[in-house]
Amino acid sequence: MRIRAAVLHEPGRPVEIEEVELDPPKSNEVLVRVAAAGVCHSDVRYADGDLGPGHCPMVMGHEGAGVVESVGESVTHVAPGDHVAFCFVPACRACRYCLAGKPNLCEIVAEHGARGMLMDGTSRLRLLDGTTLQHGLRTACFAERTVIAAGGAVPIPAELPLWQAALLGCGVVTGIGAVRNVARVQPGDSVAVFGCGGVGLQVIAGARLAGADPIIAVDRVPEKLELARVQGATHAVNAAGEDRPVSAIRRLTEGGVDYAFEVIGRPETIRLAWGAIRPGGTTVVVGLVPEGVEATVPAIEFLSDKSLRGTYYGSGDPAAEIPGLAALALAGDLDLAGVVTHVDGLDGVEAALDRLRRGEGARTVLLVDAELAGRPLS
Ligand SMILES: [Zn+2]
Ligand SMILES: [Zn+2]
Repeated sequence: MRIRAAVLHEPGRPVEIEEVELDPPKSNEVLVRVAAAGVCHSDVRYADGDLGPGHCPMVMGHEGAGVVESVGESVTHVAPGDHVAFCFVPACRACRYCLAGKPNLCEIVAEHGARGMLMDGTSRLRLLDGTTLQHGLRTACFAERTVIAAGGAVPIPAELPLWQAALLGCGVVTGIGAVRNVARVQPGDSVAVFGCGGVGLQVIAGARLAGADPIIAVDRVPEKLELARVQGATHAVNAAGEDRPVSAIRRLTEGGVDYAFEVIGRPETIRLAWGAIRPGGTTVVVGLVPEGVEATVPAIEFLSDKSLRGTYYGSGDPAAEIPGLAALALAGDLDLAGVVTHVDGLDGVEAALDRLRRGEGARTVLLVDAELAGRPLS
């Protein structure tokens, strides 16, 4: 079938909205009508070519939600009409990482996904001239419809508006997972969060849910620091102002926080987040750093039990965690609407990427089908 989709033809060139060809789902795959999709800073990394060569042409988009339209053979966990959030790591459940309880690192996903293919190593997407298109992070949801691996379609309650559910599959899983599964923040632990964009705000929400205190938000944009306070930050440090963020954090916590989260993806801010932790503390790097960039810390400080940790996609079992996160949102414990600073149509991809490049606003949600998404475009 023909669908409209956002295609990245070449890094550094604007994303084109055009008609492409989508094949029906094969065995263990699902066709979803996309309602809404969030634009994430990782999309900027792809669009700007920061993740190395070999990702084009690609239909972009890895965070979104929609309604199942049809299912391939042997799919039993969802049926047409079900509301789903996308999970961009549809773990195989059989490789050594999956069996070791680390499905976020699934080898089959890594093997085929790095080439933009689905779990059988092939694509369902073509340009109208027949050129094979890659599926952006196995999801390709900046499009009217998408075919994804069955494991990437996670059922969610129909009461949760899809324009909010769209955020679950990247920003929410990644941010809250970093707090729960990596740092394992306990009540009363002190936390600092560098970068209050779409993912950083979810780290703050996760820290609030874990009972952290204080929760110190660091950003250069006053508007984002305001959003951080709404999500649960107890203190806000404007890194663009007089206040040097590390000394401000050390002053507020008498020597540093237990956990610092870097949610920007720059060596300079990783260094700041390292400086902000106390002896025995941990810095968790959530931000996606461009390929080839190195980060350094003063290594003598490892002697004070300080740790530097990485994380991918929440470092847990994303598909298993998404329903619980949806339930938190429905119960009012997670404010998804509050992190959405802009809505636009599918045509708004490039404008949203530009806002992220300028560091402006938090999440843009593309209302691919505004009615289905449950929110008017205006
Ligand atoms: Zn993302
Ligand atoms: Zn696996």
